[in-house]
Amino acid sequence: MIPPGYHPTDRKRSWGRLPRGLQYVAEPTFHDEIPRLAQAAGAAEMSVLAIGLGRSYGDSGLNLGQAAIDMRRVDRVMAFDWTTGVIRAEAGLSLSDLITRVAPHGWFPPTTPGTRFVTLGGAVANDVHGKNHHRAGSIGVSVRRLGLWRSDRGLIEISPTEEPDLFAATIGGLGLTGLIQWVELQLVPIASTHLDQENIAFGGLDEFFALADESAQSHEHTVSWIDCASRGASLGRGIFSRANWRTDGRRDLHDDAKGITFPIDLPGFALNPLSLKLFNTVYYGRQKSKPALQDLHYEQVFYPLDAIFGWNRLYGAGGFYQYQCVIPPETARDAVAELLDAISRSGQGSFLAVLKTFGDVVSPGLLSFPRPGVTLALDFANRGDAAHMLMARLDDIVLAAGGRLYPAKDGRMPPVLFKAGYPEWSRFARQVDPACSSSFWRRIHHG
Ligand SMILES: Cc1cc2nc3c(=O)[nH]c(=O)nc-3n(C[C@H](O)[C@H](O)[C@H](O)COP(=O)(O)OP(=O)(O)OC[C@H]3O[C@@H](n4cnc5c(N)ncnc54)[C@H](O)[C@@H]3O)c2cc1C
Repeated sequence: MIPPGYHPTDRKRSWGRLPRGLQYVAEPTFHDEIPRLAQAAGAAEMSVLAIGLGRSYGDSGLNLGQAAIDMRRVDRVMAFDWTTGVIRAEAGLSLSDLITRVAPHGWFPPTTPGTRFVTLGGAVANDVHGKNHHRAGSIGVSVRRLGLWRSDRGLIEISPTEEPDLFAATIGGLGLTGLIQWVELQLVPIASTHLDQENIAFGGLDEFFALADESAQSHEHTVSWIDCASRGASLGRGIFSRANWRTDGRRDLHDDAKGITFPIDLPGFALNPLSLKLFNTVYYGRQKSKPALQDLHYEQVFYPLDAIFGWNRLYGAGGFYQYQCVIPPETARDAVAELLDAISRSGQGSFLAVLKTFGDVVSPGLLSFPRPGVTLALDFANRGDAAHMLMARLDDIVLAAGGRLYPAKDGRMPPVLFKAGYPEWSRFARQVDPACSSSFWRRIHHG
């Protein structure tokens, strides 16, 4: 039976376009529709999951065969104090829309992922991090209060001091502790919408770590692109980018209509060891020759990929996986070298591989991904067994190094790796709303 208010569709996909299948989706406009919709799913013996803009890569934002409530239209700003920078908004508001409302008043989100096309609810449910993690931590650090609808309690308000256990489970809680109706967030002041960005080429991992150490004090935003096709003497070479906000009073905004559309699903043969190596070599050379210091708009610093609509088609019609791990400081240097070596030997790997150090600002989230250490993120086209065998090899390295994978990017990690990486998972499981589930959770918890 299709629950009233829902329609069946197989068109809702995650960013990696894997896995695929039918979901029963409702698209409310008002937050007071949520209880009725969640109850309708329950009456049809289906679990329910709130979903946002579908920017998670794997199956944590999917509830295949079950019900999903698409929150994108529940997106009103409820209150904004432009003297303190505290905003309360419905969970479907995108970071893109939030920025256009608050940046003219000199405020910005406390941290931002590499795309502005995420909802507030999605950002909280994955406790997202950005290039300023070493200073600001993840978004959960700046969440003051949440309005959470639970099937067993109705709408409740939670904060670090009111129902702290449920709050801790909901930050990075993968949508499983209930439906977030609104988010109250502390923004940060900015004195310009532009940043000074410096790009520095590095020849290997030792240079990367030295740059990361040096820049942690001097720069608010740091990230590196890494050439994942290089081997031997140039293993781990890349471009280190570091940036600070300018103070020149400019207030110009981004434009969501501006950009180019990636036209086709790239055929599988276009992605091969040779084309990947060629791209990485050319990209490294071009970035190296760019001016070292640039005055850039936040759109160019934080969201370069948002200018290419549908870039996820680059990896072909079969979809792709993103692999993002974090490795503790003690084992980071050797484990990252081992990971990069395994990837370059496999001839798989991606155009965009990212390396960044995380700081020690602690998130309240029980399942929060960031922890002190180094995070490596890269994409693998879905080449069936070859991709799975490579990722299994990477899992072994991550596990041995005491690291963990990011659920927001995952569609295949084995339960044992999740449980080793997230020792608080059973404490978290006690806070899961009995009506909520996801494809990720069934795979990890019951798989
Ligand atoms: C190009 C790109 C770059 C990225 N860069 C980064 C990065 O730098 N750092 C980072 O941390 N992440 C990054 N991400 C991942 C992205 O930030 C997260 O996956 C984010 O959670 C996506 O938000 P969404 O609105 O699309 O939510 P969805 O992907 O639709 O859902 C994500 C999770 O949020 C839950 N959820 C959504 N809305 C609600 C709600 N109202 N109540 C309860 N639960 C809810 C869902 O159930 C699901 O578990 C990137 C993704 C892309 C595509």
